[in-house]
Amino acid sequence: MNDWSLRAELFRRYLIPLKIVALSTAIGLLFLIFLLPLSALQRQSLWLYSLAVGGYISIFYWVIYPRFGIQRWVQFLNILVSITLICGAYALLGEFNSSMNALLVIVVFISGIFSGRAAAFFAAVISLLGTIAVDNYHAQPPVYQAANQGINTIQFLITAYISSALGDLLTSQVYERQRKNEDLSLLLDASLIATSSLDLNQTMPQVVQKIVSFLPISYARIDLLEEERLVPYGIASLRHGREERIRLRQCPALAELPWIDAAYQTRRSIQAHRDHIELTPYWLDFKHFFSADIHTICVIPLLAANRVVGFLSVGEVRDAQREPISQVKVEFLETLANQIAVVVENARLHLEEQKKAKRLEVLNHIANVISSTIEMDTLLQELYHLLIQVIPADTYYVGIVNWEHEVIELKLLLDAGERYEGVKIPLAQGLAGYVARQQKPLLIRDFQRESEVLPFKPVIIGKNQMSASWLGVPFGKEDHPQGILAVASYTPNAFDDEDLQLLSNVAQQAALAIDNARHHAEVEERARRDSLTGAYNHGHFLEILRQTVNASLTHHDPVSLIMLDIDHFKEVNDRYGHTIGDEVLCLIVQVIRKQIKSRDVLGRWGGEEFGLILKGASLKNALQVAQRIRMALRRTPLTSLPEITITAPTISQGIACLPFHAKTAEELVEKADHALYIAKSAGRDSIQVYGEDLLLT
Ligand code: GH3
Ligand code: MG
Ligand code: MG
Repeated sequence: MNDWSLRAELFRRYLIPLKIVALSTAIGLLFLIFLLPLSALQRQSLWLYSLAVGGYISIFYWVIYPRFGIQRWVQFLNILVSITLICGAYALLGEFNSSMNALLVIVVFISGIFSGRAAAFFAAVISLLGTIAVDNYHAQPPVYQAANQGINTIQFLITAYISSALGDLLTSQVYERQRKNEDLSLLLDASLIATSSLDLNQTMPQVVQKIVSFLPISYARIDLLEEERLVPYGIASLRHGREERIRLRQCPALAELPWIDAAYQTRRSIQAHRDHIELTPYWLDFKHFFSADIHTICVIPLLAANRVVGFLSVGEVRDAQREPISQVKVEFLETLANQIAVVVENARLHLEEQKKAKRLEVLNHIANVISSTIEMDTLLQELYHLLIQVIPADTYYVGIVNWEHEVIELKLLLDAGERYEGVKIPLAQGLAGYVARQQKPLLIRDFQRESEVLPFKPVIIGKNQMSASWLGVPFGKEDHPQGILAVASYTPNAFDDEDLQLLSNVAQQAALAIDNARHHAEVEERARRDSLTGAYNHGHFLEILRQTVNASLTHHDPVSLIMLDIDHFKEVNDRYGHTIGDEVLCLIVQVIRKQIKSRDVLGRWGGEEFGLILKGASLKNALQVAQRIRMALRRTPLTSLPEITITAPTISQGIACLPFHAKTAEELVEKADHALYIAKSAGRDSIQVYGEDLLLT
């Protein structure tokens, strides 16, 4: 706002008193016309004069003022007209010269106040010319004229000087008030922005932007303290005119930024100049935190309930001599900082409340899941879906300790949204092993910072990427640790003590459910198996076969089925009795097991007949396996039977393969069975592939 518009503001403010002055002048004129002993000519002239005054005032209020406002030339015109009219009146009245000077002084005075110095001196000069003209008109003696003009000159000039100075003072007051109004409106704006949302990431950048463009200042940023670390929330720079991207996701520690640390320790605004920092080791951090061209900085702590919650930092590119960050600005920023602090605190409290409520809700759900889910995989998946809502993580796993094999078997491992099956971690290694062995929770906020103090090397599981933070809690009884529940993140500081507490709580609750689910799984598994040989029973074997056939048809993978029948087994029974027969049966199953992969499925089809599903195996592979089994049996002396030497019985095998021989599980069984029948007929101890002449004996 320039000086001129401030004067206009002043004029507007005093317009009503001015109108009163105009009205009094009109009444004064009437008084003159009616009460003074004037000649007829004088009275007539006064009427004309009043008409001129009224006419000009009307023209001014109805034409000039609405059209041009109070522009500079209008003010000069006003001065000129009013002095001319006054002098005109006194030329007519003649003998009342002295009061004319008083009126002219008033005009000069008003000009000085409302129109500034130039206008005041203009009024003084015109008044002087007016008085000279009036004196000449009345033909005053030269001595009187000289004295009169001397006094007038002093009067007018002093009035012009004093009134313009007074006008300056008044305008500066108007300016001050207006500035305060603007400050207030910025405060209001900033607080409106700040309170518009509880998402500080959204509001803080807008607040700094407002500060930068309003104050104006070259650079402003808001950083909040989170667990003794600075986290930038908003950065704005006047030069770029838009919010700068947040350059530092993570700021250095407080001690590495001395100006921030000073504001933190003293809880007061700190001003500093780059000259004092440029030659220190902190210069690089300064450049990072502000910008290389910033000269003067001011850091204001955000205080909520006497606690520092963050910092409002501003920087100015102009050098210190020009006092870029004035006391007024600092005071204003301090007021703003107080407001921001309140908003930050409110947002925090609100978030905390929300988090607490969410945690309670999740704990409640978890309790429900735990009491209603018996199936292990469903239980772990449900736990995962609930937990991830309150502890966001990239990696999540539940491991059960297998003390016998000294490994932790991961029953569920999810990493970056992908599930990994069958992962095992050696008990003696890694964080999970440590937690399981020590039976103590472990929180690693930042691997990079804490890597040196870790007593063990982390094991990478899932995606081949090192986590940045990790949290694991054990579960089970103290004397018998059962497993571990762990979360990890690829960003540092993803977890805190509250998460640890929550996870421990969940783990303890889940321990019993996981144990139950494990027992349930064991019982189910047992029910699926044949009690004598441990191979899958007929029903479950057939179910797996159907699933495998379906999957292989979709993925266009081959599946081979071998049907095996022990030759002349009846004779073993007859000769050694059923008990020994049972044992021989078990031993044969063990021999078969050793020749197949863990993903191949062995089932007892009935009696001494078995089925073997070879997933992904072609006919050629299946033939190799069958031959391997046959040879292994031949080599096997069944020595484990005490005091009896039994020659191992031979077996006959029939092979069929999907998709060449069959399209369904039933068809596959039928074809393999048929091949087995041919193998038997051909004299036993042989292998027959369905539909082929070749017989392997
Ligand atoms: P082959 O198959 O070569 O024609 O002669 P085999 O003697 O094996 O004949 P078959 O398959 O007809 O006889 C099956 C015999 O297996 C009948 C039964 O005594 C015996 N067996 C079946 N299940 C069991 C079992 O669980 N335990 C024992 N000890 N013997 C069984
Ligand atoms: Mg048999
Ligand atoms: Mg049989």
